[in-house]
Amino acid sequence: ETPAEKFQRQHMDTEHSTASSSNYCNLMMKARDMTSGRCKPLNTFIHEPKSVVDAVCHQENVTCKNGRTNCYKSNSRLSITNCRQTGASKYPNCQYETSNLNKQIIVACEGQYVPVHFDAYV
Ligand code: ADP
Repeated sequence: ETPAEKFQRQHMDTEHSTASSSNYCNLMMKARDMTSGRCKPLNTFIHEPKSVVDAVCHQENVTCKNGRTNCYKSNSRLSITNCRQTGASKYPNCQYETSNLNKQIIVACEGQYVPVHFDAYV
């Protein structure tokens, strides 16, 4: 799996325009293999075409949370779902709170200049 493929697995859900139920994150975090070994505590899914998300790598350049300079902020708000592990969640029974949002996203880009890391939403 390349870093770009990993981004697609962890962050892209073009099929749905939004999370359809409060169970979305519980199902998707497991389906996308983010609950094996440990429960990934925080993860965001993006409900937009791949072309729209790839294009963010050519939008506003911003500093990443880790201080690197390969982050880019989307010009427009995108449909996203934030998944946050609940306090009661205990591996291997990973439990998440599902929140639908419309926010500008910040992604890190590398290689052929495609997204490889989801940094934040604002
Ligand atoms: P995510 O951060 O999208 O939830 P991972 O932590 O699994 O997912 O993978 C992020 C990947 O992106 C790593 O391979 C990391 O080396 C790479 N990467 C490239 N640029 C950055 C950056 N500026 N900040 C964080 N990770 C980055």
